[in-house]
Amino acid sequence: MIEKNVCLKPYNTFGLGAQAKLMARVDSVSNLQEILADNSLHNEPRFILGGGSNILLTKDIDALVIKNEISGIELINETEDSFFVKSGAGIPWHELVMHCITNGYAGIENLSLIPGNVGAAPMQNIGAYGVELKDVFHVLEAVELATGNVRSFSASECEFGYRESVFKRKLKDEFVISSVTLRLNKQANLNTSYGAIDQELERLGISSPTIKDVSQAVIGIRQSKLPDPKVLGNSGSFFKNPVVQTVIYEELKTKYPEIPGYPAGENTKLAAGWLIEQCGWKGKVVGNTGSHGKQALVLVNYGNATGVEIFNLSEQIMKSVYDTFGVQLEREVNVY
Ligand code: FAD
Ligand code: NAP
Repeated sequence: MIEKNVCLKPYNTFGLGAQAKLMARVDSVSNLQEILADNSLHNEPRFILGGGSNILLTKDIDALVIKNEISGIELINETEDSFFVKSGAGIPWHELVMHCITNGYAGIENLSLIPGNVGAAPMQNIGAYGVELKDVFHVLEAVELATGNVRSFSASECEFGYRESVFKRKLKDEFVISSVTLRLNKQANLNTSYGAIDQELERLGISSPTIKDVSQAVIGIRQSKLPDPKVLGNSGSFFKNPVVQTVIYEELKTKYPEIPGYPAGENTKLAAGWLIEQCGWKGKVVGNTGSHGKQALVLVNYGNATGVEIFNLSEQIMKSVYDTFGVQLEREVNVY
């Protein structure tokens, strides 16, 4: 069924009240192909929606919103050292993580509690605490919007990068991801040295952690630092961490000895949150929006913000970081 004039407020974690001209919920590939083949909808632009946790709606969406609700999690293969787990694109990402932890499939415990759906995870190669989707990715299936044909993409075809993939660049708006298959480990290879995981495990009195312990530590840290979108609208990190030439980092370090920098190949990754905080934005309220008091990288909606207000705040932040450090921030959130 096609719904008309749908308010998108419940469908985006910023809680912005843009209107969609049309909305179709799809729960299978064949259902999606029927919608794509429907002649009465041929002239409508398409907008693919998952959990709405990485979008900023600055205007009404004059398009057919395709809300991906394809479900199902299945163990499709097993080798001596790996489990191959296929998930429908409409499964909430954290539900898949919990399913894997319950069944002893290791590798995505550091990616616990990331909002959104499985289908969007490859879009920006989701990452947290030193693990990225690409580390466990096997293959995905996607339906081409123009033809309805199903195509498989291997990891190299996805062109994963830091919060990047081919679906955000060359193939933007051309495919709907319908399923993702992960290759998970039978033998856990824990990564607890990133961020505050080790400290949190120590605080919990855990010296030989399991994947469940690591997941719980990550959940605890995230809950203590990040605003819950159900309480305070937000889209997580609004900006990417900028990657600069190491020589530029060294120059910045002479002026700002405290500046954090992490090796990124030959370059250095800066912490966008730190740069924003130094410019005085952390916890600052601007009208109905602002930068969060516990993590400056997260922009929030205090209740009545519009997407344009949030976008304008992001422009001001980008300008002051550039004026202060000469570093250009890039938005991670997809702006419409
Ligand atoms: P949406 O916001 O619905 O869509 C995002 C983009 O993907 C849009 O361009 C949309 O058109 C497209 N898209 C969605 N589904 C499909 C599909 N099936 N096929 C093709 N295109 C599609 N991200 C991280 O990487 N790491 C984190 O640690 C993290 N923490 C967060 C914490 C909070 C509190 C919040 C609110 C967000 C966080 N995010 C994080 C960002 C976000 O959760 C992820 O990027 C997530 O993968 C977005 O999923 P979604 O289903 O909500 O996508
Ligand atoms: P944090 O631990 O306070 O660290 C600040 C920044 O420093 C992070 O952005 C992280 O980069 C980087 N960093 C920290 N330790 C590092 C290490 N050992 N090696 C390389 N880089 C390191 O960050 P936080 O805000 O609490 O977030 C924790 C994790 O969750 C991060 O991985 C972050 O990306 C992820 N997260 C993402 C979103 C989102 O919307 N994208 C939202 C919330 C949290 P990276 O960001 O590159 O990891």
